[in-house]
Amino acid sequence: MEFIDLAAQQKRIIEKIESNIKSVLNHGKFIMGPEIQNLEENLAKYVGARHAISCASGTDALLMALMAYNIRPGDAVFTTPFTFIATAEVITLLGATPVFVDVDPETFNIDPKKLENSIVRQKNSGTALNPKAVIPVDLFGLLADYESIESIAHEHDLLIIEDGAQSFGAEYKGKKSCSFGSVACTSFFPAKPLGCYGDGGMCFTNDNSIAEILRSVRVHGQGNHKYENIRIGVNGRLDTLQAAILNAKFDIFPDEIERRQKVAKRYSDLLSTSPAFKVPHIPEGYKSAWAQYSVLAANEKQRSILQERLQKANIPTAIYYPKPLHLQKAFADLGYKKGDFPVSEDVASRIFSLPMHPYLTLEDQETIAAVLNQ
Ligand SMILES: *Cc1c(COP(=O)(O)O)cnc(C)c1O
Repeated sequence: MEFIDLAAQQKRIIEKIESNIKSVLNHGKFIMGPEIQNLEENLAKYVGARHAISCASGTDALLMALMAYNIRPGDAVFTTPFTFIATAEVITLLGATPVFVDVDPETFNIDPKKLENSIVRQKNSGTALNPKAVIPVDLFGLLADYESIESIAHEHDLLIIEDGAQSFGAEYKGKKSCSFGSVACTSFFPAKPLGCYGDGGMCFTNDNSIAEILRSVRVHGQGNHKYENIRIGVNGRLDTLQAAILNAKFDIFPDEIERRQKVAKRYSDLLSTSPAFKVPHIPEGYKSAWAQYSVLAANEKQRSILQERLQKANIPTAIYYPKPLHLQKAFADLGYKKGDFPVSEDVASRIFSLPMHPYLTLEDQETIAAVLNQ
């Protein structure tokens, strides 16, 4: 059994993938070829954003978004410690300061009440930090609580950058992932809901001038001319070949999102009665992209027992994320300690993810459930 079965997906669209790759080999425009614009137009339309700016990775998408708004030393950027390192890494990379805010115990996304407290504390603390932005993460494919976050951000004059690396295809009240915030960022890493065959990412925005800056930052801060540089940027382009692959995969993406709903529902039906673990909670009005199907064991020991049992039955599992960012050595300079974010620490000690992809069969899910429900 595969944790994510990319081979099943490839089998379904192999002819289209091969013909799309062949077109690129034929026209030879490996950098910013026509497939790039095609992908950007299609995804912007799908998301409901005015602009889509493809780039080399989800990490670059976040970095470029912060660069476009000139985030710099002295700025505080709020985010959660229960996410992939990239979310906070880009803040530090620009010399700004990540300020961590604990997550909600049900959704694992940033807790809006705690966000507000943290902003107020930052403003009153007398430190020189300037609260500038918040990066909500749509963890495991579930959108953060943007209604609450937007009103808090508005009140305190903060910018919102959506980290939609795990949530492409998700919805809240009909509004799609990557349509929230001033800029939204996603990743096309192979394991994400819409993945390519390497690294890739995209920024989305409705703001014309920010879109123009993002396009400039993507190519070394380019101006009107190839060798005119008007700001410091990065080499952040998406490869034409990856765009060609994404175009083939995007054809079946809406169908895959529906399949993920079905797979998730089957899991919840098969598993929801167990006292040893808790299945994911999707609040009213939300549709998850189900990047992961993550269950919470009763405690850390129970998690090891369940994972071991599954492993013996050749069922792969994974832990996202075993160590919250505030306890990572890379962020030791920020001065956080154990106990600072109790919900993130508790969840990190109990969470684990089951195989999840659009092609998971009922039979496999029944096998998994039988092992877990033992
Ligand atoms: C994967 C991921 C990223 C980074 O994306 P890459 O394409 O791997 O650079 C950022 N944030 C979150 C939440 C992610 O899951």
